[in-house]
Amino acid sequence: MRTVAIFRRELRLYDNPLLQEAEQGEFIPVFFLDEYNQQEHGDNLRALFFHALRQLQRGIEATGGRLYVVPLEQQERFFDVARPDEVRFCEDVEPHSRERDGQLKKLLEHKGIRYRVLRDSLLSPIPDSTYPSFTQFYKRHFTQHVQPERAIPMPTSLRTPALDVPTVDIPDVDTEPARSWYATEEEVQAKWQHFVANTLPRYGSLRNLPSVQGVSRMSPYIRCGMISLRQMLRDAWGVSEQFVKELAWRDFYSHLLYHYPETVNMELRPEWRGFPWRHDEEQFERWAKGETGVPLVDAGMRQLLCEGWMHNRTRMVVASYLTKNLLIDWRWGERWFYLHLVDADLAQNVGNWQWAAGCGADALPYFRIFNPVLQAQKFDPKGEYIRQYVPELREASDEQLSNLETLHHAVPDYPPPMVSPEEGRQRFLQVAREFFGESVQGRLPLERE
Ligand SMILES: Cc1cc2nc3c(=O)[nH]c(=O)nc-3n(C[C@H](O)[C@H](O)[C@H](O)COP(=O)(O)OP(=O)(O)OC[C@H]3O[C@@H](n4cnc5c(N)ncnc54)[C@H](O)[C@@H]3O)c2cc1C
Repeated sequence: MRTVAIFRRELRLYDNPLLQEAEQGEFIPVFFLDEYNQQEHGDNLRALFFHALRQLQRGIEATGGRLYVVPLEQQERFFDVARPDEVRFCEDVEPHSRERDGQLKKLLEHKGIRYRVLRDSLLSPIPDSTYPSFTQFYKRHFTQHVQPERAIPMPTSLRTPALDVPTVDIPDVDTEPARSWYATEEEVQAKWQHFVANTLPRYGSLRNLPSVQGVSRMSPYIRCGMISLRQMLRDAWGVSEQFVKELAWRDFYSHLLYHYPETVNMELRPEWRGFPWRHDEEQFERWAKGETGVPLVDAGMRQLLCEGWMHNRTRMVVASYLTKNLLIDWRWGERWFYLHLVDADLAQNVGNWQWAAGCGADALPYFRIFNPVLQAQKFDPKGEYIRQYVPELREASDEQLSNLETLHHAVPDYPPPMVSPEEGRQRFLQVAREFFGESVQGRLPLERE
């Protein structure tokens, strides 16, 4: 039996369905380098991703096997040389990946090669249609299909035949923000175990506080498949339902993208299409650089620039400030995040941006607008997160941080708010009321505040 396993975003040895029973015959791991992804992804994600691919390559070599890295254009030639009995790969919900998989299936059928499609980046199967709210999805789908499963052991000895196929080097991409995330698979395991032992039981009460180590920071490793979602579920099961729910949100957004691929650049809720978003480049740039004059927003945006990652609470606050207070198109924010996040994931990013803007599934009703000053008082009451990422504000008192109108007098290096939260809020409400009329007010359920 000769098996080809196509690795895409499952770059690990432990608990990997691609490696199930891999020791039983000849096993050929391959990664097809796709130019499209090179163009589409930001450098931070590419740097971590190729780092993870190199780790996988070493891990496979340590078992005696070999990972072939082949340009996607040479895929057919690869199969002609490899002549497998079976090809296995994992399903992917992104529109480009689905198109690519459609072509791959046709090619394999044409060549009479059997294939198996496995699930790894989702915990639950994709339902035939989506659920109108996360709560219904969680109760009627996720909890019905998802149970802790036994881990797939790590292979210790792989046999890969030598093949005369065109290969390429793994691209060499390195960025400062990505560097702090580089880790071996064992190091990722150690970080996860540390979180499980020290934080997971208190996750529900800590997860909204950006200044404490209250979240797992696993998203970059999930994105590259350096850790298994099934393992995370197993460890969280019965310990933190809140954490299991966060993993379920991930599935929810992935399923939405599968069923509504057009939402990559179009609002999910039809009544929002054509909304008069502003396209103010100068204001967008100040937001992107973390120079808005609103401390929590600036702290979040600067964390993104230096770490390629941002705490979920601040992601929600900066997204709300951009779309509601500045009235700037959510697509601009989504793209900026996508190009800078080391955990950039199309389904999660689009789903969450549309949620924050109000035009997505289970979104905040348009009249519920985060106040970034109140959010800071509630979730960063001592201003520790703000002072960490906005050094100009290190000496400002808590009281000064809470008064945006006078903060720039107390700290001359810091700009006045470019749009005060209250003015921005009033403007948004007026524009939204004119656009929607009164018809949709108050209709939407409120899930995550
Ligand atoms: C505007 C915006 C954009 C976002 N873009 C992305 C993105 O591109 N990639 C991405 O992985 N996440 C994205 N998120 C979701 C969330 O912010 C991150 O998954 C989370 O902050 C990652 O940190 P963590 O691993 O410590 O999460 P933890 O709190 O430890 O949660 C564990 C896991 O649950 C999942 N999860 C948690 N919150 C969410 C959520 N709101 N939506 C979906 N899954 C969630 C993630 O896989 C996360 O790793 C975005 C959120 C917002 C508000």
